[in-house]
Amino acid sequence: MLNLSNREIRLKSRPENLPSAENFELAEVSVPEPKDGEVVVKNLFMSVDPYMRGRMRDMKSYSAPFEIGEALTGGCIGKIIHSKADDFKTGEYVNTMYGWREYSVSSTKGMTKVNPDLAPLSSFLGTLGMPGMTAYVGLKLIGEPKAGETLFVSAASGAVGAVACQIGKMLGCRVVGSAGSDEKVAWLKDEVGIDEAINYKKVDNLEAAMAAACPKGIDVYFENVGGAHLEAALNLMNPFGRIPFCGMIAGYNAKIPGPRNLAFVIGKCLKIQGFIVSNHADLAPQFIQDVGQWVKEGKIKSKETIVDGVENAPGAFIGLFSGDNFGKMIVKLGEDD
Ligand code: NDP
Repeated sequence: MLNLSNREIRLKSRPENLPSAENFELAEVSVPEPKDGEVVVKNLFMSVDPYMRGRMRDMKSYSAPFEIGEALTGGCIGKIIHSKADDFKTGEYVNTMYGWREYSVSSTKGMTKVNPDLAPLSSFLGTLGMPGMTAYVGLKLIGEPKAGETLFVSAASGAVGAVACQIGKMLGCRVVGSAGSDEKVAWLKDEVGIDEAINYKKVDNLEAAMAAACPKGIDVYFENVGGAHLEAALNLMNPFGRIPFCGMIAGYNAKIPGPRNLAFVIGKCLKIQGFIVSNHADLAPQFIQDVGQWVKEGKIKSKETIVDGVENAPGAFIGLFSGDNFGKMIVKLGEDD
């Protein structure tokens, strides 16, 4: 008998606009015995991600909606504390999709092992995990930045944005980013080493600020935000520019007006393409090889905001929409003992 109890966060109701604490509930259940082929994982860190907002809607999308009354799911790093699976051993660290709870019992389908010697465990949810891979895929397949070009990244200090900025610098681009606080802007310029950064919350005219920071126009706009950022970028894009449509967080809780200048896509011959990182699993080994090496060599800087305890996961998630996170937002679920 395991005799363990598990606290988990369930979706209580579907948020209308910005989610609030009332949309979530904390429940306590006992951890079931694993069956043959299953493992028990003690969760150490979980990720909260903007895409989860979409899954809170009862709407057909690229991933199924969360169900009311059921525990939420999401990326998570944990340690196997009991194994009835041949290929996964007790004591190994794994990346699973069973976040929002303290323990999981499941088959090993979709589970991957993580190497704790490569980097701190939480970075497998950020720079070395799904967000880092998103930046890599969006730039490699769609943005295709070249040395000397200008790359503009919105939400630049976030989990995806910071990696996109640094890949751009390594490729020899002039990199400009926007972020929502002076502290984030200072980090981007002074520590990450991008060429210019804008606090979009403090400027009177976002487009004028972006134009001043990108005197030669924008060749690649890595789109994380939407709204006014997208409209300004379309005005400033150079002919044959590329826009990886990664995310539009400004519109996840409310309708935002579409850009009024979309017709520039034609005259400027722009390439705009959306993508979902999970459709590009074939690039994962190359991503781990490239970005893992850059992390090892100290070439990629990253920030994390770590919130303690599963009970605080809803607050951490909600905080993504007001920029409470500086870098990757992580929830610590337990000690590695
Ligand atoms: P971040 O770590 O960047 O956190 C979200 C950040 O967005 C906040 O910290 C905040 O930073 C900024 N933000 C929130 N609301 C607004 C707003 N209204 N206007 C401008 N900025 C805002 O998150 P991720 O790096 O995980 O995700 C970044 C984007 O990438 C999201 O849009 C997400 O949906 C998308 N994404 C897409 C994937 C794909 O496969 N296509 C996969 C993963 C992520 P600030 O303080 O700077 O405002």
